Amino acid sequence: MSGSKYAYVKSYETPDNLLPGTFIVVRLDGHAFHNLSQKHSFIRPNDERALQLMDNAARDVMDEFKDVVLAFGESDEYSFLFRKTTAVYKRRHAKILTTITSLFTSSYVFHWHRYFPETPLQYPPTFDGRIVLYPSAQEVRDYFAWRQVDAHINNLYNTTFWALVQQGGESTTQAHHTLKGTVSKTKHEILFSRFNINYNSLPERFRKGSVLVKEDTPVEGEVPEKAQSLDTRDLNNSKTSSQVVLHHCDIIKDDFWDARPFLLS
Ligand code: ATP
Ligand code: ATP
Ligand code: MG
Ligand code: MG
Ligand code: MG
Ligand code: MG
Repeated sequence: MSGSKYAYVKSYETPDNLLPGTFIVVRLDGHAFHNLSQKHSFIRPNDERALQLMDNAARDVMDEFKDVVLAFGESDEYSFLFRKTTAVYKRRHAKILTTITSLFTSSYVFHWHRYFPETPLQYPPTFDGRIVLYPSAQEVRDYFAWRQVDAHINNLYNTTFWALVQQGGESTTQAHHTLKGTVSKTKHEILFSRFNINYNSLPERFRKGSVLVKEDTPVEGEVPEKAQSLDTRDLNNSKTSSQVVLHHCDIIKDDFWDARPFLLS
């Protein structure tokens, strides 16, 4: 296979293995999705179909990459966390990043029609990707907190902006002007006093983003007839299977992480 006189060119390839014992985070972001969302008439400020399509693509990544234990998505981006000890593709940077980016992208395209049955894709969308290594649990927690705070800030802004446009009759230029320099308290007040919208009662999906976790869940196995009564069933003995579970919850406070120590071990 590699015995020809040309094979020496292979030695020009440079190794790119990622530092062992560090947390690998992959973040993907849609390229020019502001345009894509306009061309495909996304609902403003939040098109739920588009968010679900993103969640579905992230699920496909987690099903394929067993060592991805957590993912967080908002808008046109998704972040994936690998177990610290993963040996996936010998931790080769390019191999990991390109394979995840292309799997996510092809899943997005492949399933588009299920989420947008009336809106054919007009061109092939692309995603960029990057890998960041974090040395300890603290940076990983701060990374995900950073993305969730970003989701919140963007969503509060976008929700207020589109309320001004869609219900307040402002032009987009006027709405930009109205919101320029406002703090979050002011946006809450605009939403409530002018549009009777209580921000905190908007769907959690929009306010918190999507959190996909690989969790061990008990399987309802085939219990032998004798053991079928509840009293005799040994729950500790029941099988578990790893499943990807979708939440729209807080990942900034301790509770989420305390309940799932395996994420950072
Ligand atoms: P870049 O290529 O630099 O990432 P971009 O146009 O993708 O440019 P982003 O900052 O990534 O810019 O923002 C993504 C944009 O895509 C949002 O601002 C919004 O306009 C649009 N968008 C993405 N997802 C949704 C959604 N579910 N509903 C409505 N709009 C969305
Ligand atoms: P890896 O994920 O490591 O790249 P791989 O299975 O893709 O594994 P490659 O070394 O990339 O292995 O080789 C690609 C293989 O795909 C070829 O060996 C061949 O079996 C098959 N293949 C690709 N293109 C064609 C084609 N046009 N016709 C027939 N077989 C093909
Ligand atoms: Mg970007
Ligand atoms: Mg983008
Ligand atoms: Mg983005
Ligand atoms: Mg190949």
